[in-house]
Amino acid sequence: MHLTFLSKQVNLVLKWAKSQYGDDGLFMSTAFGPNGVVLLDHVKDIMPKLPIFFIDTGRHFKETLELRDRYIAKGFNIISNEPREEVDLLNSSADECCDNRKVRPFTTMLLANDGRTWITALSRYQSPERAEIKFLQHAQWNKVNPMLAWNETDVWDYIREHKLDYNPLHDEGYRSIGCKPCTTKTKPGEPVRAGRWRGLEKTECGIHAPPSPEEPCPTSVEESPSL
Ligand code: SF4
Repeated sequence: MHLTFLSKQVNLVLKWAKSQYGDDGLFMSTAFGPNGVVLLDHVKDIMPKLPIFFIDTGRHFKETLELRDRYIAKGFNIISNEPREEVDLLNSSADECCDNRKVRPFTTMLLANDGRTWITALSRYQSPERAEIKFLQHAQWNKVNPMLAWNETDVWDYIREHKLDYNPLHDEGYRSIGCKPCTTKTKPGEPVRAGRWRGLEKTECGIHAPPSPEEPCPTSVEESPSL
């Protein structure tokens, strides 16, 4: 009988990634959501100098920018872009706006760090689109997803147990926070990302493209040869 084991041990995956790609071969991205602050808490001991990309869209809540600044003050190696304020596309299409304010600045950051492997804070619980993510994904850039098996309760239990600094908007009913014009509170019983782009079919900004179907990925820690 084959048992699939999905580890919740973030440290194990981070140490494996460090052994595979080295200190200079990795970066992380975050918008300082609940998953992101948990991952940062794991990163700080294992890879304290890890470059951490934050995409400043110019449309964030002030609470998000203040949280970013507090994490900079804690010593994290956070790299922000200058927002593209000349771009005002909210009235044309959300996809175009995300492309200009998020995807393009992020791609510029990625290209400047070509060859590094991307550590994300994605989890399978977050949406149907994320339900199939693997620990290791090969797409245009390699991705490692150490938190894929965590659920929302795991995340908030960890935040409270470790007294982590988090976005105070979560205490007001925002469960997933992106840009201010495209983020609403969630109602009881709604999925965690229901408040994002409410009323649109859009569910992702575009930076998390799906993995290439030609490149099958390991489905568990056990199936990753050296993990
Ligand atoms: S989330 Fe909204 S405001 Fe932010 S880049 Fe996308 S469309 Fe523009």
